[in-house]
Amino acid sequence: MKADEQKWTTAEKFLQKARKLEPENENINKSLASVLAWRGDEAYRLNDLKKARADFEKALRYDPQNSKLKIMLSQIVYRMEGSTQEANGLLEEGLKGNPDESFREQKMQFFREMEIEKQTREIRHGNWILRFQEDLMGVDPKRIFDLIQEVSDFVGEDFEYWIKHRLVFVLVDQMKFEQIHSGPDWAAALNDGRIKIPFSSGLENEKQFKAVLAHEYTHSVINDLSAGYPVPFWFHEGLARYEEDRIRGVSLYDSRYFLNLAQVYKSQSYLPFEILNDPLAAEKIPPSFVPLAYEQSLSFVLYIKDKFRFYPLLSFLKNI
Ligand SMILES: [Zn+2]
Repeated sequence: MKADEQKWTTAEKFLQKARKLEPENENINKSLASVLAWRGDEAYRLNDLKKARADFEKALRYDPQNSKLKIMLSQIVYRMEGSTQEANGLLEEGLKGNPDESFREQKMQFFREMEIEKQTREIRHGNWILRFQEDLMGVDPKRIFDLIQEVSDFVGEDFEYWIKHRLVFVLVDQMKFEQIHSGPDWAAALNDGRIKIPFSSGLENEKQFKAVLAHEYTHSVINDLSAGYPVPFWFHEGLARYEEDRIRGVSLYDSRYFLNLAQVYKSQSYLPFEILNDPLAAEKIPPSFVPLAYEQSLSFVLYIKDKFRFYPLLSFLKNI
């Protein structure tokens, strides 16, 4: 048990005793809710979603009108469930008391996702949840779960980490993909807690699908290991590209994969490191510079890996 967790558990016990004496005392109930929310928040940042969810649900029982708790819980539920309906309901209730604009955007996104979910099917395999558009050609859930397992083993070996919590994969056609992702227009797939992949040509090109899967799955691993702290763009994308190219089986040192980098080499007109270091760089880099941004990011990761092996990358990530 972590030190903070221990502290909150002790506080919870103490407040529960006080509550037995005065069950209607609002101050005691609200304090109890805050303690549970602190503990839940810690669990959320450590990606123990089950524990986090249990704590926030319990907190809401003691402080049912607390809109902040509802919004927090909606983010956890979104990451855990195949359907966005429950998360949306919680967010909607939470928004009644909290006018934060960024959450209104999230609500619109939930709304769009729910419209598309009506045309999808959900299949579960252990902790993997696959949600796919029913009229998509070539979806073979069994094969897809095999590929996810393969990717998880492959990436896990490098990171010494295997995702154990629930993970949602959403497969839709290109048009619907554009409606449910909140990333930049050029995004080829997306990970916003769920792994969303446009699935237009079926498993015809399985190698390509697996590579995209490895890329997005790596983002989930990084999010877990960095415990919710912001990770620089070059690090997130460099590592994701590294795993993507590795599973593709391409030589990472083949200059053909660094065409954009080769072009700017002479003039030394690279993208400044300050830009690539920004965790929100994806939203700021002009689309025409995106390929260069990815190549530079990958080259940073390769440089560190070649000079110091993979382990320093891992410890940097854990200490971020
Ligand atoms: Zn990426």
